[in-house]
Amino acid sequence: MPQCTADFEGLCLLYQAMEVGLHKIRAMARTNKELAEELIRDGYLKSPLLIRAFRAINRKDFVPKEFWDEAYGNYPLDIGERQTISQPLTVAFMLELLSSQPGENILDIGTGSGWVAAILAYVVSQNSGDQNVGRVISIERIKKLSESAEKNLRKYGFIKKGILKFIVGDGSRGYEAEAPYDKIIVGAAVQVAEIRRSPEGRRRTAAAGERIPIAWKKQLKVGGRIVAPVGNSVVVVDKISEKKFRSREYFGFSFVPLVKG
Ligand code: SAH
Repeated sequence: MPQCTADFEGLCLLYQAMEVGLHKIRAMARTNKELAEELIRDGYLKSPLLIRAFRAINRKDFVPKEFWDEAYGNYPLDIGERQTISQPLTVAFMLELLSSQPGENILDIGTGSGWVAAILAYVVSQNSGDQNVGRVISIERIKKLSESAEKNLRKYGFIKKGILKFIVGDGSRGYEAEAPYDKIIVGAAVQVAEIRRSPEGRRRTAAAGERIPIAWKKQLKVGGRIVAPVGNSVVVVDKISEKKFRSREYFGFSFVPLVKG
Protein backbone atom coordinates (compact mmCIF):
# COMPACT_ATOMS: atom_id res chain seq x y z
CA MET A 1 0.00 0.00 0.00
CA PRO A 2 1.42 3.48 -0.88
CA GLN A 3 2.66 5.77 1.92
CA CYS A 4 0.38 8.64 2.96
CA THR A 5 2.03 12.08 2.59
CA ALA A 6 1.72 14.72 5.29
CA ASP A 7 -0.74 16.93 3.29
CA PHE A 8 -3.79 14.71 3.50
CA GLU A 9 -2.58 12.15 6.03
CA GLY A 10 -5.85 11.82 7.98
CA LEU A 11 -8.01 11.30 4.91
CA CYS A 12 -5.46 9.03 3.33
CA LEU A 13 -5.23 6.76 6.40
CA LEU A 14 -9.02 6.61 6.58
CA TYR A 15 -9.14 5.57 2.93
CA GLN A 16 -6.54 2.87 3.49
CA ALA A 17 -8.45 1.50 6.49
CA MET A 18 -11.60 1.33 4.33
CA GLU A 19 -9.67 -0.53 1.62
CA VAL A 20 -8.50 -3.09 4.16
CA GLY A 21 -12.06 -3.47 5.50
CA LEU A 22 -13.51 -3.86 2.01
CA HIS A 23 -10.89 -6.41 1.11
CA LYS A 24 -11.87 -8.43 4.18
CA ILE A 25 -15.56 -8.33 3.22
CA ARG A 26 -14.86 -9.27 -0.41
CA ALA A 27 -12.61 -12.14 0.70
CA MET A 28 -15.11 -13.57 3.19
CA ALA A 29 -16.49 -17.00 2.36
CA ARG A 30 -20.12 -16.80 1.20
CA THR A 31 -21.08 -20.45 1.58
CA ASN A 32 -20.22 -23.30 3.89
CA LYS A 33 -18.35 -24.96 1.01
CA GLU A 34 -16.28 -21.80 0.48
CA LEU A 35 -15.45 -21.73 4.19
CA ALA A 36 -14.21 -25.32 4.02
CA GLU A 37 -12.17 -24.47 0.89
CA GLU A 38 -10.60 -21.49 2.69
CA LEU A 39 -9.61 -23.69 5.65
CA ILE A 40 -8.09 -26.27 3.29
CA ARG A 41 -6.22 -23.60 1.31
CA ASP A 42 -4.82 -22.04 4.51
CA GLY A 43 -3.63 -25.44 5.74
CA TYR A 44 -5.97 -25.86 8.71
CA LEU A 45 -8.15 -28.64 7.31
CA LYS A 46 -6.28 -31.66 6.00
CA SER A 47 -7.85 -35.06 6.62
CA PRO A 48 -10.46 -36.22 4.09
CA LEU A 49 -12.98 -37.33 6.74
CA LEU A 50 -12.84 -34.00 8.59
CA ILE A 51 -13.16 -32.12 5.29
CA ARG A 52 -16.32 -34.09 4.53
CA ALA A 53 -17.65 -33.34 8.02
CA PHE A 54 -17.00 -29.59 7.66
CA ARG A 55 -18.84 -29.59 4.35
CA ALA A 56 -21.77 -31.63 5.68
CA ILE A 57 -22.38 -29.53 8.81
CA ASN A 58 -23.46 -26.00 7.92
CA ARG A 59 -22.08 -23.35 10.30
CA LYS A 60 -25.10 -21.15 9.57
CA ASP A 61 -27.30 -23.64 11.45
CA PHE A 62 -25.36 -22.76 14.62
CA VAL A 63 -25.30 -18.98 14.32
CA PRO A 64 -28.09 -16.68 15.60
CA LYS A 65 -30.31 -15.18 12.87
CA GLU A 66 -28.86 -11.68 13.20
CA PHE A 67 -25.45 -13.01 12.11
CA TRP A 68 -26.57 -15.22 9.24
CA ASP A 69 -24.84 -12.98 6.69
CA GLU A 70 -21.57 -13.50 8.60
CA ALA A 71 -21.98 -17.22 9.25
CA TYR A 72 -19.01 -18.16 7.05
CA GLY A 73 -16.58 -15.47 8.24
CA ASN A 74 -13.43 -16.85 9.82
CA TYR A 75 -14.04 -15.35 13.26
CA PRO A 76 -16.03 -16.15 16.42
CA LEU A 77 -19.63 -14.91 16.68
CA ASP A 78 -21.83 -14.04 19.63
CA ILE A 79 -24.32 -16.81 20.58
CA GLY A 80 -25.79 -15.10 23.67
CA GLU A 81 -25.10 -15.68 27.39
CA ARG A 82 -21.77 -13.89 26.76
CA GLN A 83 -20.46 -16.93 24.87
CA THR A 84 -19.31 -17.42 21.29
CA ILE A 85 -19.27 -19.99 18.54
CA SER A 86 -15.54 -20.59 18.03
CA GLN A 87 -13.50 -19.26 15.12
CA PRO A 88 -13.51 -21.77 12.23
CA LEU A 89 -9.73 -21.95 11.93
CA THR A 90 -9.41 -22.75 15.65
CA VAL A 91 -12.06 -25.48 15.39
CA ALA A 92 -10.35 -26.97 12.32
CA PHE A 93 -6.94 -26.83 14.02
CA MET A 94 -8.19 -28.50 17.22
CA LEU A 95 -10.21 -31.15 15.39
CA GLU A 96 -7.23 -32.08 13.20
CA LEU A 97 -5.19 -32.55 16.39
CA LEU A 98 -8.00 -34.58 17.97
CA SER A 99 -8.04 -36.87 14.95
CA SER A 100 -11.35 -38.47 15.87
CA GLN A 101 -12.34 -41.63 14.03
CA PRO A 102 -15.55 -43.52 13.24
CA GLY A 103 -16.71 -45.63 16.17
CA GLU A 104 -15.09 -43.54 18.91
CA ASN A 105 -16.62 -42.42 22.20
CA ILE A 106 -15.97 -38.68 22.51
CA LEU A 107 -16.54 -36.10 25.25
CA ASP A 108 -17.06 -32.49 24.07
CA ILE A 109 -16.77 -30.03 26.97
CA GLY A 110 -18.48 -26.66 26.35
CA THR A 111 -21.30 -27.35 23.87
CA GLY A 112 -21.84 -23.65 23.05
CA SER A 113 -23.72 -23.58 19.74
CA GLY A 114 -23.33 -27.34 19.20
CA TRP A 115 -21.27 -26.87 16.02
CA VAL A 116 -18.23 -28.84 17.19
CA ALA A 117 -20.48 -31.57 18.64
CA ALA A 118 -22.25 -31.87 15.28
CA ILE A 119 -19.00 -32.19 13.32
CA LEU A 120 -17.82 -34.88 15.73
CA ALA A 121 -21.15 -36.72 15.59
CA TYR A 122 -20.77 -36.83 11.79
CA VAL A 123 -17.22 -38.23 12.09
CA VAL A 124 -17.87 -40.95 14.71
CA SER A 125 -21.00 -42.17 12.94
CA GLN A 126 -19.39 -42.80 9.55
CA ASN A 127 -19.10 -46.41 8.53
CA SER A 128 -16.32 -47.86 10.66
CA GLY A 129 -16.38 -51.28 9.02
CA ASP A 130 -17.83 -52.98 12.09
CA GLN A 131 -21.12 -52.46 13.85
CA ASN A 132 -19.63 -50.12 16.40
CA VAL A 133 -21.21 -46.70 15.81
CA GLY A 134 -19.50 -44.04 17.86
CA ARG A 135 -21.00 -41.57 20.27
CA VAL A 136 -20.51 -37.96 21.30
CA ILE A 137 -21.39 -36.65 24.75
CA SER A 138 -21.48 -32.86 24.81
CA ILE A 139 -21.64 -31.07 28.17
CA GLU A 140 -22.53 -27.39 28.73
CA ARG A 141 -22.98 -25.53 32.02
CA ILE A 142 -25.50 -22.97 30.66
CA LYS A 143 -28.88 -24.64 30.23
CA LYS A 144 -30.16 -22.11 27.68
CA LEU A 145 -27.22 -22.77 25.37
CA SER A 146 -27.58 -26.54 25.67
CA GLU A 147 -31.26 -26.20 24.74
CA SER A 148 -30.62 -24.02 21.71
CA ALA A 149 -27.79 -26.32 20.61
CA GLU A 150 -30.28 -29.16 20.69
CA LYS A 151 -32.60 -27.15 18.41
CA ASN A 152 -29.70 -26.34 16.07
CA LEU A 153 -28.99 -30.05 15.77
CA ARG A 154 -32.52 -31.23 15.13
CA LYS A 155 -32.32 -31.42 11.35
CA TYR A 156 -29.21 -33.60 11.43
CA GLY A 157 -30.85 -36.53 13.26
CA PHE A 158 -27.83 -37.40 15.42
CA ILE A 159 -29.72 -37.09 18.71
CA LYS A 160 -32.61 -39.26 17.55
CA LYS A 161 -30.21 -41.97 16.44
CA GLY A 162 -28.45 -41.92 19.84
CA ILE A 163 -25.17 -40.72 18.31
CA LEU A 164 -25.14 -37.40 20.15
CA LYS A 165 -26.26 -36.60 23.67
CA PHE A 166 -26.37 -33.18 25.36
CA ILE A 167 -25.81 -32.88 29.10
CA VAL A 168 -26.27 -29.76 31.25
CA GLY A 169 -23.52 -29.69 33.87
CA ASP A 170 -20.01 -28.73 34.88
CA GLY A 171 -17.55 -30.27 32.46
CA SER A 172 -14.50 -29.21 34.47
CA ARG A 173 -14.85 -32.60 36.15
CA GLY A 174 -15.53 -34.38 32.87
CA TYR A 175 -18.56 -36.66 32.72
CA GLU A 176 -17.99 -39.88 34.59
CA ALA A 177 -21.27 -41.58 33.62
CA GLU A 178 -20.24 -42.23 29.98
CA ALA A 179 -16.47 -42.68 30.53
CA PRO A 180 -14.00 -43.92 29.39
CA TYR A 181 -13.53 -41.79 26.29
CA ASP A 182 -11.28 -42.26 23.26
CA LYS A 183 -10.99 -38.49 22.89
CA ILE A 184 -11.88 -35.37 24.90
CA ILE A 185 -12.15 -31.91 23.31
CA VAL A 186 -12.67 -28.71 25.28
CA GLY A 187 -13.99 -25.37 23.99
CA ALA A 188 -13.23 -23.14 27.00
CA ALA A 189 -9.82 -22.38 28.48
CA VAL A 190 -8.41 -23.70 31.73
CA GLN A 191 -7.22 -20.56 33.51
CA VAL A 192 -3.53 -20.12 34.26
CA ALA A 193 -3.45 -17.31 36.81
CA GLU A 194 -2.21 -19.25 39.83
CA ILE A 195 1.46 -20.02 40.34
CA ARG A 196 2.53 -23.26 41.98
CA ARG A 197 5.61 -24.03 44.04
CA SER A 198 8.13 -26.48 42.68
CA PRO A 199 9.36 -29.34 44.92
CA GLU A 200 12.42 -27.21 45.74
CA GLY A 201 10.14 -24.47 47.02
CA ARG A 202 10.72 -22.11 44.06
CA ARG A 203 7.76 -20.38 42.54
CA ARG A 204 7.11 -21.56 39.03
CA THR A 205 4.44 -21.70 36.39
CA ALA A 206 3.21 -25.25 35.83
CA ALA A 207 3.64 -26.64 32.33
CA ALA A 208 0.38 -26.39 30.39
CA GLY A 209 -0.10 -30.19 30.33
CA GLU A 210 -0.05 -30.28 34.15
CA ARG A 211 -3.00 -27.91 34.30
CA ILE A 212 -5.36 -30.32 32.60
CA PRO A 213 -7.87 -31.51 35.26
CA ILE A 214 -7.09 -34.96 36.64
CA ALA A 215 -10.72 -36.01 36.11
CA TRP A 216 -10.31 -35.58 32.32
CA LYS A 217 -7.14 -37.69 32.35
CA LYS A 218 -8.80 -40.40 34.42
CA GLN A 219 -11.82 -40.57 32.11
CA LEU A 220 -9.60 -41.05 29.06
CA LYS A 221 -8.73 -44.50 27.68
CA VAL A 222 -5.08 -45.51 27.44
CA GLY A 223 -4.09 -44.52 23.90
CA GLY A 224 -6.61 -41.69 24.00
CA ARG A 225 -6.10 -37.95 23.52
CA ILE A 226 -7.30 -34.67 25.06
CA VAL A 227 -7.23 -31.42 23.07
CA ALA A 228 -7.94 -28.47 25.36
CA PRO A 229 -7.19 -24.76 25.64
CA VAL A 230 -5.02 -23.72 28.58
CA GLY A 231 -4.72 -19.93 28.81
CA ASN A 232 -3.93 -18.79 25.27
CA SER A 233 -2.59 -22.15 24.14
CA VAL A 234 -4.03 -25.31 22.67
CA VAL A 235 -2.67 -28.30 24.56
CA VAL A 236 -2.59 -31.91 23.37
CA VAL A 237 -2.33 -34.62 26.03
CA ASP A 238 -1.77 -38.27 25.06
CA LYS A 239 -2.42 -41.03 27.58
CA ILE A 240 0.49 -43.43 27.17
CA SER A 241 -0.41 -45.70 30.10
CA GLU A 242 -2.60 -45.45 33.22
CA LYS A 243 0.00 -43.21 34.84
CA LYS A 244 1.95 -41.76 31.94
CA PHE A 245 0.93 -38.74 29.87
CA ARG A 246 2.73 -36.80 27.16
CA SER A 247 1.76 -33.25 26.23
CA ARG A 248 2.58 -30.55 23.70
CA GLU A 249 1.47 -26.95 23.45
CA TYR A 250 0.54 -24.63 20.57
CA PHE A 251 0.62 -20.92 21.45
CA GLY A 252 -1.39 -17.92 20.35
CA PHE A 253 -5.14 -18.57 20.61
CA SER A 254 -8.03 -16.92 22.39
CA PHE A 255 -10.88 -18.68 24.23
CA VAL A 256 -13.68 -17.96 26.67
CA PRO A 257 -12.77 -19.18 30.18
CA LEU A 258 -13.68 -22.59 31.57
CA VAL A 259 -15.94 -21.78 34.54
CA LYS A 260 -16.04 -24.22 37.44
CA GLY A 261 -19.39 -25.15 38.94
N1 SAH B 1 -17.44 -25.57 20.75
C1 SAH B 1 -18.44 -24.53 20.87
C2 SAH B 1 -17.87 -23.25 21.39
C3 SAH B 1 -17.82 -23.26 22.79
S1 SAH B 1 -17.53 -21.76 23.63
C4 SAH B 1 -19.16 -24.29 19.59
O1 SAH B 1 -18.97 -25.03 18.66
O2 SAH B 1 -19.97 -23.36 19.54
C5 SAH B 1 -17.25 -22.52 25.18
C6 SAH B 1 -18.46 -23.00 25.92
O3 SAH B 1 -17.99 -23.63 27.11
C7 SAH B 1 -19.42 -21.92 26.36
O4 SAH B 1 -20.69 -22.18 25.88
C8 SAH B 1 -19.38 -21.99 27.90
O5 SAH B 1 -20.64 -21.74 28.51
C9 SAH B 1 -18.95 -23.42 28.11
N2 SAH B 1 -18.33 -23.70 29.42
C10 SAH B 1 -17.49 -22.93 30.15
N3 SAH B 1 -17.15 -23.56 31.29
C11 SAH B 1 -17.78 -24.77 31.28
C12 SAH B 1 -17.84 -25.88 32.17
N4 SAH B 1 -17.17 -25.89 33.33
N5 SAH B 1 -18.60 -26.94 31.84
C13 SAH B 1 -19.30 -26.97 30.68
N6 SAH B 1 -19.29 -25.95 29.79
C14 SAH B 1 -18.54 -24.87 30.08
